[in-house]
Amino acid sequence: MLTWKEVMEFAVRGNLEPDRRVEKTDEEWKAILTPEQFRITRKKGTEAAHSGALCSIYDAGLYNCVCCNTPLFDSTIKFESGSGWPSFTQPIKPNAIKYEKDNMYGMVRVEVMCSTCDAHQGHVFPDGPEPSGLRYCINSESMKLDKED
Ligand SMILES: [Zn+2]
Repeated sequence: MLTWKEVMEFAVRGNLEPDRRVEKTDEEWKAILTPEQFRITRKKGTEAAHSGALCSIYDAGLYNCVCCNTPLFDSTIKFESGSGWPSFTQPIKPNAIKYEKDNMYGMVRVEVMCSTCDAHQGHVFPDGPEPSGLRYCINSESMKLDKED
């Protein structure tokens, strides 16, 4: 299980290698994403709190990157944080996510990206529930739910 200490080490020293890489130009991403998905995932945007379609959905399934379809999170690690964004306590596996320190807006935060295609997903904070203590705060627009049935 990842903890804040390991997340900080990834952000400072470098991330784990992903299983595969997907690289496209902005024009190629624009062709397959909605304008809002493009703004958030490729330009590090943020959706308005409580606006996301996946915010209050707890159906069983995988949360895949909207850009490259790689599973990033699953419903067993999703929780209601009250923040207005879908929240998770762990990635589906350690090398699915990459971390980078983000100094935007004068705050030091840790940005969360898909390690396969570098899609911006959101941020991770050290105030999540035990045992990991992590809260991955993710944009609904960055993911698509692959429901189990
Ligand atoms: Zn991706």
